[in-house]
Amino acid sequence: MKGMALSLLTQAEEKGLGGRALADEPLARHTSYRIGGPADLYVVVRREEDLLGWVTLARKEAISYLVMGRGTNLLVADEGVRGVVIENRCREVRSLTRSEGIILRVQTGGSLSSLARRTAKEGLGGLEWAVGIPGTVGGAIVNNAGAYGGSIAQRLQRVTLLDSQGVLQRMAVSELGLGYRTSRFKGESSVILSADFALLDESRDLLSKRVASYEKQRRKSQPKEPSAGSVFKNPEGDYAGRLIEEAGLKGDRIGDAQISPLHANYIVNLGQARARDVAALIRLVRERVWQKHRTLLELEIELVGDWEPEELAATIGRQHKECREHPNIEKEDR
Ligand SMILES: Cc1cc2nc3c(=O)[nH]c(=O)nc-3n(C[C@H](O)[C@H](O)[C@H](O)COP(=O)(O)OP(=O)(O)OC[C@H]3O[C@@H](n4cnc5c(N)ncnc54)[C@H](O)[C@@H]3O)c2cc1C
Repeated sequence: MKGMALSLLTQAEEKGLGGRALADEPLARHTSYRIGGPADLYVVVRREEDLLGWVTLARKEAISYLVMGRGTNLLVADEGVRGVVIENRCREVRSLTRSEGIILRVQTGGSLSSLARRTAKEGLGGLEWAVGIPGTVGGAIVNNAGAYGGSIAQRLQRVTLLDSQGVLQRMAVSELGLGYRTSRFKGESSVILSADFALLDESRDLLSKRVASYEKQRRKSQPKEPSAGSVFKNPEGDYAGRLIEEAGLKGDRIGDAQISPLHANYIVNLGQARARDVAALIRLVRERVWQKHRTLLELEIELVGDWEPEELAATIGRQHKECREHPNIEKEDR
């Protein structure tokens, strides 16, 4: 175990912090891609006070940290992640009011899809589009996740967070910079603790029909192999999948990473893919799509961990330089 991990563990024990801590834990065990080298220290927390405690401790010790949901939008480097990775499994749900609907206050480590399924069963509408999105509520807010014309921005009212200065804050949805698969939290160190969603009274029958229809569409269009969902954002007025398919790339492979023959905007792991294989395919796609369509694709998935700086810069392309926002524009994934 590295000295840093040991010292952080000792201090956490002294402070009585809860959470299951594992040293040198392979992140391939914790990402939907089944890819990623070891985290120096990996901690799973189920109580908000532990989440706050670990983040505060890491900040105090100037140890880098990553708060992760279910790792369904991440490509973790083969070399792993230095510092501590904190998996948020805080999932308490409370209802605040009931008049024309309901406000639910949910902790951010719970599954978004389960929340959507459960609320639809109770006759509460507004999240059913999210059935089948595999991450947490927290990860979904960071990305303003969306599908089938719905998105987090539509029913979210406010969040409670620990900001980068260590201050607990409530923020209204209008302050969150939510746009097409983006928010003010991208690349920032705030930790979102809970979120209030305003849901609507709707017919259970109608909601269950919508849920069934979205599930059916997903079963048809979504590859079964491990992935992180759509790799690229849809460019304005078009679909990344269409551009990739027309560039003749469906089915192309590097190592065990493959551009899915079913859905060209998915790069899937056929078994033993490494992060560098996926990254090489990303660069190939961007280059070929540029050559054919003169469109520069932006990444939707996020690269984290110990990447070589040149490889990272080449793979993310202009993601951080010119992150265009398309507020209110929601496009169905293809
Ligand atoms: C098969 C498949 C289908 C998918 N379909 C869709 C889809 O239809 N629509 C869509 O939008 N996405 C889709 N995704 C992508 C992904 O599921 C979503 O982006 C999801 O919301 C990510 O949540 P997560 O918990 O896995 O976040 P992670 O991948 O763990 O983290 C994503 C980012 O959020 C940050 N983060 C997570 N929690 C917090 C927190 N509490 N506070 C601060 N930062 C936090 C992380 O640090 C990281 O930067 C799909 C993925 C897969 C594998």
